Amino acid sequence: MSGVRPGTRHYAVVCSSCGTRYEDDGLLLDCSRRHEPAFLHTEYDRTGTHTRESTGLFRHAPLLPVVRTFPEAPGPVVHHAARLGHRIGLDRLWVAFNGYWPERGAYLPTCTFKDLEAYTVLGRLPADPPVLVIPSAGNTAAAFAWAATCHQVPCLLVVPAPALERMRFPAPLDPCVRIVVLDGTATYSDAIAAADLISALPGHHAEGGARNVGRRDGLGTVMLEAADALGGLPEAYVQAVGSGTGAIGCHEAAHRLRSAGDALPRLLMCQNAPFAPLYQAWRSAGPADTGLEHEPLARELTNRRPPFTVRGGVRGVLTESGGDVLCTDNVAALDAMALFEEVEGIDIEPGAGVALAALAQAVHDGRVRRDELVLLNITGGGRARQARDLALIPAEPWLRVPWPGREAGPRAVAELVAEHSTGLTAATEAAR
Ligand SMILES: [Zn+2]
Repeated sequence: MSGVRPGTRHYAVVCSSCGTRYEDDGLLLDCSRRHEPAFLHTEYDRTGTHTRESTGLFRHAPLLPVVRTFPEAPGPVVHHAARLGHRIGLDRLWVAFNGYWPERGAYLPTCTFKDLEAYTVLGRLPADPPVLVIPSAGNTAAAFAWAATCHQVPCLLVVPAPALERMRFPAPLDPCVRIVVLDGTATYSDAIAAADLISALPGHHAEGGARNVGRRDGLGTVMLEAADALGGLPEAYVQAVGSGTGAIGCHEAAHRLRSAGDALPRLLMCQNAPFAPLYQAWRSAGPADTGLEHEPLARELTNRRPPFTVRGGVRGVLTESGGDVLCTDNVAALDAMALFEEVEGIDIEPGAGVALAALAQAVHDGRVRRDELVLLNITGGGRARQARDLALIPAEPWLRVPWPGREAGPRAVAELVAEHSTGLTAATEAAR
């Protein structure tokens, strides 16, 4: 990896609880003071000069916590979806499309908005970074695997076996990208537990998920792009959520953009019954964990421990924006996916179907006004279209671990990774 610009960063990282300001090292995830759990957030120096690309994600570099930009990284695209709006009873519906849709100039390589966070997190890293360790249910791993391959950034991805279906790319992955697959019945939660222990190995570092300001601000470019297209902020922002990281990022971006007196867009977060921990937490104001693991259509929404009560987290942004959590079922989501493809002419992911279905229901119930200016984040789409247009190659796992097995468990996985890494280092050195 090269191209780190010298000089100080054009932003500070600030604690949402105690206000302590930090000079960013590209890896910082938490405030070092003792207090309630709290997100760090970025504050940008608007007077500095920055590299700014003319198109794509890094057009927004002045509001991204990055020291390098990747010129070819595509971004979100926003359009007025008049016909789709008409079908669900809205006069002013705009869509932010994150995925592959050549006619609209949408070229996100792994077809979801996770590409936005992956490029931003990698752009935030210092020179000679440690191995970034990232657990994922699938989409995040795919995004990081491809972005890290394009820019030779060492990453270790921990995924449950079903996530491998999503790991198909235009070319083989770079050897610096390692995929650890937990086989059998392992879940996203198991991947998180294993990644926590792997992160503690020498030379490894936790990427941090929602705590990483690069993730939230990268996903927040959806709001930046929409504000350019709309000439201001929308009144409502609608998105399917697993952890809620994207919705929090868009809320933070709206904060940066708004002029005095502007209202913040109310956040309508959507989940997929029967697995809807944020919906239940928001309705009951209890802990955000149901302890259940069913099979919703949109597997990417099944985060069991979303950042609900942390300062700057889901509960805070819902309260501040006057938002709500909506819930819809698989049948409605499938109908919405079909509706979008019929009207707009492109396939969308189940998560995006959940968001459209929940929005349509909210309009029907009178919870969203007919004349409200609504931004719908289509968080993933065009996967089927991309598969028709491009020849994709399945990724090869670096390590497969049986789960559950005699030696399975998070600690065993970390030990295997350590052994395997040492073996590789020894083999490389022996070859010299
Ligand atoms: Zn603090």
